[in-house]
Amino acid sequence: MNPDTSQYKHASREFHPADTVIELLGADGKPAVIGGDYCAVIAGPCSVENREQITGIAAAVKKAGAVFLRGGAFKPRTSPYSFQGMGKEGLEYLLYAKKETGLPVITEITEISQIVLFNNVDIIQVGARNMQNFALLKELGRIHKPILLKRGHASTMTELLLAAEHIMTGGNDRIILCERGIRSFDNYARNILDLAIIPALKQKSHLPVIVDPSHATGLSRMVPAMAKAAIAAGADGLMIEVHNDPHKALCDGEQSLTPEAFAILMDSLQKYTELAGKKLGIK
Ligand code: PEP
Ligand code: MN
Repeated sequence: MNPDTSQYKHASREFHPADTVIELLGADGKPAVIGGDYCAVIAGPCSVENREQITGIAAAVKKAGAVFLRGGAFKPRTSPYSFQGMGKEGLEYLLYAKKETGLPVITEITEISQIVLFNNVDIIQVGARNMQNFALLKELGRIHKPILLKRGHASTMTELLLAAEHIMTGGNDRIILCERGIRSFDNYARNILDLAIIPALKQKSHLPVIVDPSHATGLSRMVPAMAKAAIAAGADGLMIEVHNDPHKALCDGEQSLTPEAFAILMDSLQKYTELAGKKLGIK
């Protein structure tokens, strides 16, 4: 047995050769799918800022072809002086946008005590800063919701897979892995997008792998090229930050696409997904 994969027997392809496919009820009664033959796009603002903002962005990204809506309510910010997110109120607005558009929603959890608030959230995100919050991972292993697990800023592939394993040992096997850029010596971009981890993860694991080109680059002008590259490299999906007025965004405006730029990107992604032999997330 390969000594590496034996460390993560639930996440390993060795013990589960078939791709894990995560399927949820999507907008207009159609299944929203990530994994296998489906490449789904998750889009929305970094943070929920008010009800009109999240509802308007939700309608725009849905029209452009996004299958899931994102929006942070509990924000783990590097600085205590930055906007910390709207918390519970933000979650309520996100769920309002879900009701209005039918898009399933994904939002970040930062503490175990928040789990009770996430009943109507479709996918729970564990951010880069919490990838090794083992108490949180273990608790998420006990619930029946897909988890989007983002790679830590300086975590190896094995550490990411072992973090997934912490959730899976509790019985929750619906994990989506997310590459969102790692720390390096160069600062021309916010992070360095490690595209090679896509085929590497897909060889080691059956779990779907998505890419977040927004946090990986930190600059909206770089997002379209990296989104296309991620799909060409075999990603099962993308998470893209979209804001109605990026200059005024309370968080991550510099890396956010306008709804118009997002729609143009979505049109151009069609041919990349076809070349990769995948469909764009809706069954
Ligand atoms: C986010 O998705 O807004 C976020 C905080 O991402 P990360 O954990 O990758 O920094
Ligand atoms: Mn963000």
